[in-house]
Amino acid sequence: MLAALQVGHGTIEEAFRVQEVPTPAPGPGEVLVRVRFTTLNRKDVFALRGLTGPGIRPRPPLPHVNGGEFMGEIAALGSGVRGWSPGDRVTGFGALYCGECEYCQMGEQTACLHYGLLGEQVWGAHAEYVVVEGKTLERVPDGVDGALVACAGSGYNTAWRMLVTAARVQPGETVLILGASGGVGTAGIQIGKLAGCRVIAVVGGAWKVARALEIGADHAVDHTREDFLEAARRITGGRGVDVVLDPIGADTWRRSINALRMFGRMAICGATSGDAPDISIREVYQSHRQILGAPKGNRTDFTNVLRCICDGRLAPVIHARLPLMEMQRGLHMLQDRDFFGKVVLTV
Ligand SMILES: [Zn+2]
Repeated sequence: MLAALQVGHGTIEEAFRVQEVPTPAPGPGEVLVRVRFTTLNRKDVFALRGLTGPGIRPRPPLPHVNGGEFMGEIAALGSGVRGWSPGDRVTGFGALYCGECEYCQMGEQTACLHYGLLGEQVWGAHAEYVVVEGKTLERVPDGVDGALVACAGSGYNTAWRMLVTAARVQPGETVLILGASGGVGTAGIQIGKLAGCRVIAVVGGAWKVARALEIGADHAVDHTREDFLEAARRITGGRGVDVVLDPIGADTWRRSINALRMFGRMAICGATSGDAPDISIREVYQSHRQILGAPKGNRTDFTNVLRCICDGRLAPVIHARLPLMEMQRGLHMLQDRDFFGKVVLTV
């Protein structure tokens, strides 16, 4: 099969090569999927430096195939897999979990004591075929664009977890979305609007302001021209926002916290600018503010967001659809922040 193989670290050209590799075979409980659509994510840029998240098992030695999101058709079933047939249109949860530990029993698979990610601890979907556990599959109805479905597992699932499950946004609330041009951010704009909120999107650059407004944001702030904390105060008449979605970390935390009203909630999923912010804890407790960790949604969150995509309530924003052969070009878009929404690879 053809695969986008990570063979090293350094530049995109040094690290990645699209080439033939042996097609894997599904083991017991596993399924071989013919991938039709997969996506690029921020973590593919982090992989250039060999980075993985804290608390997550280390990545295996190179060469490696990245990619946690996919849509495709079942090509072969391993032993013991029930309820699926070759040719079924599927997507997957994109994580490894035991199904038996305390947290899996609670339905919180992303807190599993044996947690891992497709494309990090095992070979992922940046290839013509991927092996996944049968228990992670979800069915994709006929007629639904597979490229949209392939966006469900990472950014959309995470944004859903942050806003709906963790922050419990309510209709009429004001939500401030940082990093609003990225995978989590564009999903956050759309999910915030679906939940009946007023959405303020923070992006870098005039063309991204226009795009954020096009996809439904009520206000869009260009952080290269105006401080987002000042903008949030201006737009809310000094009251502050109800909820902040912050995937950025050190550079933005203190301003995000101060953009909240009394009792405001900040949902966090990542730390792309660093994980050691300069903050005053007094600015948190004295204003009854809450900080909510939400790194990725569980199976219920995933099922909910997938249903919204399949019935058309959410239409993921796709910046580019590139053939697998051009994955290096897609990674440059992410690295240069020259994109808005998702970069999808067609396989
Ligand atoms: Zn578990």
